[in-house]
Amino acid sequence: MTRHVEPEVFLVARPELDFDELGRYLEDVGGLSWLERLDRDQLTPQDLAEFAGRLCYRSFEPGLNPNVTRIRQDQDAYLRNILASAHGSVLEHLSFSFVLHNVSRVLTHELVRHRPGVAISQESLRYVRLSDIPFWFPEWAREDAELMKRATEMLDRMEEFQIWAADHFGLDEPGVEFAVKKHRTSFMRRFAPEGVATGLVWTANVRTLRNVIEARTAPGAEEEIRLVFGRVGELMREECPALFGDYTVTDGAWAPGWRKV
Ligand SMILES: Cc1cc2nc3c(=O)[nH]c(=O)nc-3n(C[C@H](O)[C@H](O)[C@H](O)COP(=O)(O)OP(=O)(O)OC[C@H]3O[C@@H](n4cnc5c(N)ncnc54)[C@H](O)[C@@H]3O)c2cc1C
Repeated sequence: MTRHVEPEVFLVARPELDFDELGRYLEDVGGLSWLERLDRDQLTPQDLAEFAGRLCYRSFEPGLNPNVTRIRQDQDAYLRNILASAHGSVLEHLSFSFVLHNVSRVLTHELVRHRPGVAISQESLRYVRLSDIPFWFPEWAREDAELMKRATEMLDRMEEFQIWAADHFGLDEPGVEFAVKKHRTSFMRRFAPEGVATGLVWTANVRTLRNVIEARTAPGAEEEIRLVFGRVGELMREECPALFGDYTVTDGAWAPGWRKV
């Protein structure tokens, strides 16, 4: 029986700052007063973006760089200016790792087109044998009885083929070499649909995230990836409100105030 699944996003890792090491550095160049404004127990990834930006101009406090006589004190205002002036390399220091769970190979094919600033580890269907075909049906499809009947019949047949083929190749018999299992499993996956649910760890920096959230929630983007990147956008707005606060969300489309920072 076809297993209906929902795509899910887990934010599993974010940057962590070392207060003492920041202090050691700032003692050398000056600017400890900047660090003292932060709560050492509540450092956020945004503090890293601010730190990287201030390092560029030595603007931790006025006077460290004789050219700098005034500084923005407020972090939100400081980061807004980073976005407005497209000083985007600062955002590349902030990487976040997501597990995209129960997403299709339709989604993963599209996602891998985004190249700079990402790292990917995707579930291998050469190694991981399909014993069923987990599948996401959008709500509108679920409401169409005839469509669901025909679609699930087809998926059930594919599932049955996977189980038959594993038995036919004797993959669970004692002593079958892993290389053989891998070879046959890779052959068998060719008979799974592109919509089969799988997963990956996807890590991206904030500069990349800003582009990908915009591109993949755009009205013309694919339905599943729009859903997933809408969720990624929500998570990032919670994590870094100043760095994702410029988006306007209209019917699921995330349009940034500043593009291509
Ligand atoms: C709605 C939609 C429909 C699409 N349809 C198709 C389709 O039919 N067929 C298809 O093949 N693809 C399609 N794509 C994929 C699209 O062409 C891009 O490959 C994908 O969106 C990756 O985005 P990007 O090229 O901006 O690069 P990313 O890898 O996300 O890079 C971000 C930015 O970095 C810069 N950059 C990255 N790499 C380079 C480089 N090598 N040289 C110069 N600058 C670079 C560019 O400014 C780029 O925009 C579609 C994408 C969308 C959003």
